[in-house]
Amino acid sequence: MKQAVEVITSSLGALLSTASAGEVIRDGAVVVIAGPPNVGKSSLFNALLGRSRAIVTEIPGTTRDALEAVIDSGKWPLRLVDTAGLRETEDRIERLGIEVSERYFAGAHVVLACAEDSRNLEETINLGSRNSTATILAIRSKADLVITRDKYMPSQHVISVSAETGSGLQELLAAIDDSLDTQHGEF
Ligand code: GDP
Repeated sequence: MKQAVEVITSSLGALLSTASAGEVIRDGAVVVIAGPPNVGKSSLFNALLGRSRAIVTEIPGTTRDALEAVIDSGKWPLRLVDTAGLRETEDRIERLGIEVSERYFAGAHVVLACAEDSRNLEETINLGSRNSTATILAIRSKADLVITRDKYMPSQHVISVSAETGSGLQELLAAIDDSLDTQHGEF
């Protein structure tokens, strides 16, 4: 009897994981690009898209809302979300952007925590972990730029990417696929 229950439980578990994998294959895994303003989130979004969909700007915090695009470059289809900056602010419009980020966090499968230096990276990772159960990948953006002082060691593996040169993008896409394999099983 106990054995039969175990067999049923494990079959149900397998069925449930297939169901969630099916959902991800149908709708795309939600991949949220998060981080402070001006770290290159929109540029990364565009680089991953391979064409210009978001407005890239030098003024911090001008991405007012989230932009979404589905890409099919790896194993799993990805629903990329470019969120507004995570900066704490009284600005109402920017505040709205942040609320959008928080809402997207809740439904995320993977969060790309982006920053140019390790201290901001650690803060973005922590914010992501507080707001989401998603796998958080640590991304050092603008890897083509030399940083002079960055003595702070992040607690997890960091993927360095440059939207400018394209370096690290393949590693990033592979890491996203690996995270989804872990969450939903390989297919
Ligand atoms: P966001 O506010 O985080 O979305 O940042 P943006 O994508 O708007 O980028 C802010 C600024 O950084 C712009 O001037 C971009 O051209 C620049 N930028 C973004 N990615 C890179 C990169 O990989 N390398 C370099 N050198 N500059 C970048």
